[in-house]
This record gives sequence, structure tokens and C-alpha cells, in this order.
Amino acid sequence: MHKHQILIIGGGTAGITVAARLLRTGHSDVAVIEPADMHYYQPLWTLVGGGQATATQTERPEASVMPKGATWIKNAVSALDPDNDSVTCADGAVYSYDALVVCPGIQLDWDRTDGLADTLGRDGVSSNYRFDLAPRTWEFIRETRSGTAVFTMPSGPIKCAGAPQKIAYLACDHWRRRGVLDDIDVHLVVPTPRIFGIPAIAASLEAVIADYGIHLHTGSEVRSIDAASRKVVVASTSADGADTTLPYDMLHVVPHQSAPDWIKTSPLSTGDTNGYVDIDKHTMQHVRYPNVFGLGDAGSSPNSKTGAAIRKQAPVVVDNVTAYLDGRAPSASYDGYASCPIVTSSHDMLLAEFDYSMQLRPSLPVLDAAKPHRAYWYLKKYGLPALYWNLMLKGLA
Ligand SMILES: Cc1cc2nc3c(=O)[nH]c(=O)nc-3n(C[C@H](O)[C@H](O)[C@H](O)COP(=O)(O)OP(=O)(O)OC[C@H]3O[C@@H](n4cnc5c(N)ncnc54)[C@H](O)[C@@H]3O)c2cc1C
Repeated sequence: MHKHQILIIGGGTAGITVAARLLRTGHSDVAVIEPADMHYYQPLWTLVGGGQATATQTERPEASVMPKGATWIKNAVSALDPDNDSVTCADGAVYSYDALVVCPGIQLDWDRTDGLADTLGRDGVSSNYRFDLAPRTWEFIRETRSGTAVFTMPSGPIKCAGAPQKIAYLACDHWRRRGVLDDIDVHLVVPTPRIFGIPAIAASLEAVIADYGIHLHTGSEVRSIDAASRKVVVASTSADGADTTLPYDMLHVVPHQSAPDWIKTSPLSTGDTNGYVDIDKHTMQHVRYPNVFGLGDAGSSPNSKTGAAIRKQAPVVVDNVTAYLDGRAPSASYDGYASCPIVTSSHDMLLAEFDYSMQLRPSLPVLDAAKPHRAYWYLKKYGLPALYWNLMLKGLA
């Protein structure tokens, strides 16, 4: 049994940001359990799929982002025992802690859509939700010159809920510039009643959809894929709705998502189907285990699951972990801030920023927050990656 004062599960966006901030605050015994060799800046995977960035621009060695002073435990957690303040790893090693921060990201449930796992990366089917597949998306977009293209979003919480539609807009922009958009029947399938939860943003995106001539299927999701006949069955999310079958030449699929299985089956889980770490949505402290905190995609807080949200959650977690270790009540509070950068073409982007109240909270109020702008495109392609690697992961932003 090894012990660390603060143990962090996951060295992704949340884990590295929190570790860096804890060390800057003066904590000295901070360990990060992380099995992967590489660290990814996932927001750029959309641009990889749209032919605007390369996959290698999105990855760096995990060793290069691990903060100096943190102990890197290169292992994968397989079980949680919060009643005994310990976690067990895949190789049987057990680690204990005074405070635990749980942030191992989200699980991609490819098997929840019939026929999907078998056809991924082949025969026109891809997904920007995997590093290795995002370049395939771009290959399939380039190869498509006529026929039918289908872009899908599943029901339930997913990371970056804007990503399923962004790639449809980038594809249409490419096809328009190639002069083939009119020859391609484009379908966008979403489970929600409108394309976005904030009416002003939805209206703006509906204009983008109409301009590209995309057929929008709301209240719908893909139930199954038949790769042999290149068809998808689109089911209505309402009980009385009928199924539709769409042919496809190109298909971009976003899988169902949930907490990693070993969290779902642990005492830290909410216990519902998605099984996220059961935290208070303001303090990020576990609702039953006061020395456990959660943030990022694995947390149950009902914010939009994005790196932008983590940037605001991390300082709250650090303050409240410190308060817990000092014997004080947690006082820092997260307000649900998230931002959703929606690229609408190869040169425009709409930046939806909001909090738990679902009111717009633009950081740059001089620009109309409900409309796409060219300045935001540069922010997405150059500004935000620089902010991520140079400031956020170093605990400086
Ligand atoms: C296509 C796409 C587009 C996106 N676009 C945007 C965007 O424009 N803006 C934005 O803000 N966000 C965007 N996101 C979302 C953003 O990338 C995530 O919300 C963010 O990375 C979540 O951080 P995290 O630390 O919770 O999880 P991750 O960054 O995924 O990190 C989880 C870490 O935990 C590790 N881990 C997994 N299992 C274990 C285990 N058993 N034990 C220990 N460690 C483990 C993993 O190896 C990983 O390093 C996008 C995501 C995708 C996929």
C-alpha cells in the first residue's frame, strides 16, 4: 500500500490542470494515476476531421505535461474503495490518500449502437471522437462527391455536445468550395427538440443549416447501422415516433457515452444508468465522501462537458481540497460555466458561452454572442490550443 496526501485519477485535461494548480498552491505530495503515454488536446480533433489540422498537432507526450513535483503513477485504476480511502490498479497495486480527485474522463460506448463497432473507420464510417479516426473522417469527406452523408448525435450527456454538428458544417463548407454540395444529400440527426438549447444560438445555427441545405432530424437518434447495405435506422426519441431508414455514402457517428464501468459499479457513482461521480454541482465535492472530489467529463455536475468547463472547475476543486485538508468547509463554488465553440465553416465560428442558468455569458461582449465571427475561428485554431498547452495545463489559466 502506497500513500499520497492528494491522489488524482486521470492525467487528462482535468487531472493535469488540477495537479499543476495544487502544486502552485503549496501542496507537495500530489500523485497522478495515468496509464497513457500521450496526452491529447481533443477540441482540435474536429478540425482534424474537417481537414484544418493534423492529428499530430493534437498530441504531446504525457511526460511533457506532467507538472514538475507531481508523482506520475503509470497505471490504470480498476476499483475504488472510498470507505477505506484507497484505490486499486489493474496490476493489483493499491494506493491510499487523504484526498482523492476523480477525473478519468468519459467512456465511449460504441457497442450501444448496433453494427457500429464493426464498421468504424471503414466503408465511409468514421468518428472524430477517436484520435486515430479523426483523419479518416477527413478522408471520407474528401472522397464524397455525391450521394448521401449522415451526421449523428446520440441521446444522453456527451463530451462537447457541439462536436456532432460542427463536423457537418465543415464538411458542407468543403463540398461547397468543391462545387459538389448540391449533389450531396446531407442529414444531421440530433436527439434534442432544437439544434441548441439556447434559443438565440439555435436560431443562428438553423440559418447555417438552411444555408447548407442540410436536412435536420430533431428528436431522433441512430439505432443501428447496416454496413453491408450502407443504411442507418434513425429512431424517434419519443415513444410514438416512427423509425426512418437513411442510406449513406459517408457517415459520421458520435457514440453514446457514460462513466467508466469501474466508476459505475463503485460507491462513488450516482447509481443511475450513466453512473458519473456523484458530486455537488457547485463545490465539486462528493455528496457522500467529503474527502473525494470530481470534475471534468466523469463528474455528475450538469454542465456542458467541455475543457472550457474544466478551466473554471479546477480552481474550485483546488480551493475546496485545500479547505478539506485544513479542516474548513468548502467555500469555492462553480457556476456551471462552459463554452461551446461551434465552427460553422472553414473561416467562421460561433462561441456559445453560458452557465447553469443557460444565459449567454460572452467573454467578449463587443461581438454578437449569437452569431458566427471570423475572429473566433482564429481563436479556435490558434488561440485556444496555445492557451491550453502553455497556460491551462501549467495551472496559469
Ligand atoms: C471531438 C471532440 C471535440 C471537442 N471539442 C471541444 C471544444 O471545442 N471545446 C472544449 O472545451 N472541449 C471540447 N471537447 C471536450 C474536451 O476535450 C473534454 O471535455 C476534456 O478533455 C475532458 O477532460 P477530462 O480530464 O475529464 O478527460 P480527458 O481529457 O479525456 O482525460 C481523461 C484521462 O484519464 C485517463 N484514464 C482513463 N481511464 C483511466 C483509469 N482507469 N485510471 C487512470 N486514468 C485513466 C485517460 O487516459 C485520460 O488521460 C471535445 C472533445 C472531443 C472528443
